[in-house]
Amino acid sequence: MNDTPTQQAIVSALSAIVGETHVLTRTEETRPYCVEWRDLYFGVPAAVVRPASPDEVAAILRFANENGVPIVPQGGNTGLVGAQVPDESGREVVLTLERLKAIRDVDREGATLVAEAGVVLEEIQKAASEAGLFFPLSLGAQGSCRIGGNIATNAGGTGVLAYGNTRDLVLGLEVVMADGTIWNGLRRLRKDNTGYDLKQLFIGSEGTLGVITAASLRLFPAPKGRAVAFLAVEDPQTALTLFRRFSQTAGSALTGFELMPRLGIDFVLRHQEGTRDPLEAPYPWYCLVEISSGRSEAEASELMETTLEAAFEAEEVLDGAPAASLAQAAEFWHIRHTMSEVQKKEGGSIKHDVSVPIAKIPEFLKRASAAVTEAVPGARPLPFGHLGDGNIHYNVSQPVGADRDEFLARWDEVNKIVHGIVGELSGSISAEHGIGRLKRKLLVEVKSEIEIDLMRRIKAAFDPNAILNPGRML
Ligand code: FAD
Repeated sequence: MNDTPTQQAIVSALSAIVGETHVLTRTEETRPYCVEWRDLYFGVPAAVVRPASPDEVAAILRFANENGVPIVPQGGNTGLVGAQVPDESGREVVLTLERLKAIRDVDREGATLVAEAGVVLEEIQKAASEAGLFFPLSLGAQGSCRIGGNIATNAGGTGVLAYGNTRDLVLGLEVVMADGTIWNGLRRLRKDNTGYDLKQLFIGSEGTLGVITAASLRLFPAPKGRAVAFLAVEDPQTALTLFRRFSQTAGSALTGFELMPRLGIDFVLRHQEGTRDPLEAPYPWYCLVEISSGRSEAEASELMETTLEAAFEAEEVLDGAPAASLAQAAEFWHIRHTMSEVQKKEGGSIKHDVSVPIAKIPEFLKRASAAVTEAVPGARPLPFGHLGDGNIHYNVSQPVGADRDEFLARWDEVNKIVHGIVGELSGSISAEHGIGRLKRKLLVEVKSEIEIDLMRRIKAAFDPNAILNPGRML
């Protein structure tokens, strides 16, 4: 490897590949690529480079690999573990995929779609819908996150219950390796047992093994009908009973089951103008339930109605609002999707993205809230999320009137409390968002020695000069 080049040499090499206008160095231009969504990470890059094709990505990586220039791949910059923004060294180059934005192909008959890494998730959903099909990946950041980022993080979201994680939706990948070699693995096969399934290594690798430039994705028949209901319950234990009831009656037609506490609804009503409380009185906990039917609107509604009737009779539900229209269903989902965003307006928030076996969720919530509020009196736990997947975003907002920085200084202490309980319940400290920089130190505590060793060996094989997202994950 050559000596690390100066910033000027990096800029001129990158400009020769993508053209001067696509190499950004001025703070006002680079800032959007360097600040993380929650303002937790802010870095200073050597440059931000905006390639427009896999060949340009390959040329950039060849240069970086030969000269020891660290590369930070970036999609929509909505990641929540600080992996996609540069550090403060001024040495890292942010490689944004935002100009690789073609949907190369939609195959209606085969129900597949090939998109470049920079396509925004919502645009993929739209393209599938225009073809009469459905792409089920759905998350609060879908108007900004890009499919390459979704794949690199193995994003979860609200559709996991019925359709699985991003990993389950990817049929093939095109990836540029650290040395600039392009791997075209854009297959569209559901079955392919010809050796190691290499694409799986890149899915969830957080940009540490290669740069994804395109993906072939699975599409599904578009549901013909959807029924959505906003239900109030007494506590998480009852929410779990209700989840079991809906799983039994609806089976794979149950496409969403989210849990939210009252505090979350209060925050949304306070900070999202025009949002209405779906129910007249306040209740301690809420479930947002969605049933889809491949046959008709009527079938989805009927299934929702009969299950709800039985749930009311069994006194599992305190009150409920079945959505009367598509617009109202969208309003209900909007409440759920803005639950992360509104916490920012309430000051500091200490985050946890954890999963535990589903049956343990009530115990987890009870123990975690008791322990956290004992350690930080006045702290406001706001646990919400994908109850059906055992995945809770256990966020803790600062006490009212407390100093934001003083509260956030207790991040590690609060993490330790919550993750300790997660560990005792055989859960995971990162259900959806990954490791990045935020949880890098924790990884060695939750993985066995052999797991860490195998991960390091894979990293060394794919990226021997450690130019891809150094200091993230491993
Ligand atoms: P970025 O943030 O740009 O990057 C994320 C990681 O992927 C980084 O490590 C980056 O280096 C790497 N990367 C990006 N593109 C590539 C590429 N082409 N090749 C290789 N590596 C790449 N996540 C969930 O899983 N479920 C949720 O429900 C969810 N809800 C969210 C709600 C909100 C409001 C927000 C802000 C975030 C949420 N997230 C959620 C987190 C985030 O949206 C996801 O992690 C998303 O998949 C990241 O996509 P992105 O394009 O923004 O990637």
